[in-house]
Amino acid sequence: MAAMNTTATSASSLPLPRVAVLATGGTIAGSAPDAAQTAGYQAGVVGVDKLLAAVPALAGVAAVQAEQVASIDSKDLDFPLWNTLLARIHTLAAREDIDGIVITHGTDTLEETAYLLHLTVKTAKPVVLTAAMRPSSSLSADGPLNLLGAVTVAAARAAHGQGVLVAFNNRIHSARDIVKTSTYAVDAFQSHEVGVLGWVQDGRVEFQRTVVRPHTAATPFDAANGWPAVEIVASYAGASRTAVDALVAAGVRGIVVAGTGNGSIHATLQAALAQAAEQGVAVVRASRVGSGHVMHNGAAPDDALGFVSAGSLNPYKARVLLMLALAAGMKERTVLQLAFDTY
Ligand code: ASP
Repeated sequence: MAAMNTTATSASSLPLPRVAVLATGGTIAGSAPDAAQTAGYQAGVVGVDKLLAAVPALAGVAAVQAEQVASIDSKDLDFPLWNTLLARIHTLAAREDIDGIVITHGTDTLEETAYLLHLTVKTAKPVVLTAAMRPSSSLSADGPLNLLGAVTVAAARAAHGQGVLVAFNNRIHSARDIVKTSTYAVDAFQSHEVGVLGWVQDGRVEFQRTVVRPHTAATPFDAANGWPAVEIVASYAGASRTAVDALVAAGVRGIVVAGTGNGSIHATLQAALAQAAEQGVAVVRASRVGSGHVMHNGAAPDDALGFVSAGSLNPYKARVLLMLALAAGMKERTVLQLAFDTY
């Protein structure tokens, strides 16, 4: 609805929206001894109160309350932290005096947490992740403006019902689409093929499209069902079957393969994966290319070998969906394929 898709915050007599910030660490909370240093710093060492204090403009956008949920480098993200985040989000979202939630996160695994929350959070209130590429101590640190943008989006009516969002570098991405595409650039995220949902700048939030695939309350997924073991292997020149055989012997429930091109797999690796599928391991074909999608078609080995194609999900996001689908009791290949075609 055109009338609903923009929000500008401005001085008015209306009470400010109330936004909770959940801090988990990351580079946005990173610090280096030297302001010229943008690598080799320690992530997750600056407390959320200090992050908020660096952005006085927040006071004009929302009544903000903050919690330090964790202080980690997001490479060390684990299932207990996902469970903790989900519990905090559900408790806060159920409160009438909270209008939106912001999560500060490391950039490295942000796309995994964002998609996991997108599929499991049961609220229409905005849940918005943000991060930074430069530590808080850096010249031109990007964290403060990203935090202001995320709170502005979380405070916006237009963000309701759009699923989990990521506000980064003035852009608003859907959690399903966003991927990290640079190891160092400030503009480190993209939503390949489909583009961003909209933008946030100077207090104005504008959505230019909506999310089509079901998310949040419209999915059957629940992190309380546990975390089935799902691992990722890659295909490359001279790939062997060693990793797959070891994973099957270890009892994994699923394997995502980061294939070449349109999810093609080296013959040796493919033979091992076909055997794994025969033994009841769910095998999902994704691509290591970084953009595009993995087609399910006649030429692909899915039907003959019992594989599922990941569509436009990268291997890391495909793993998130496969864990949730297996935990929801989805086992049959056609049922799993439907999940990948739907979410
Ligand atoms: N380098 C990472 C970041 O950009 C550290 C992390 O992911 O926590 O936030």
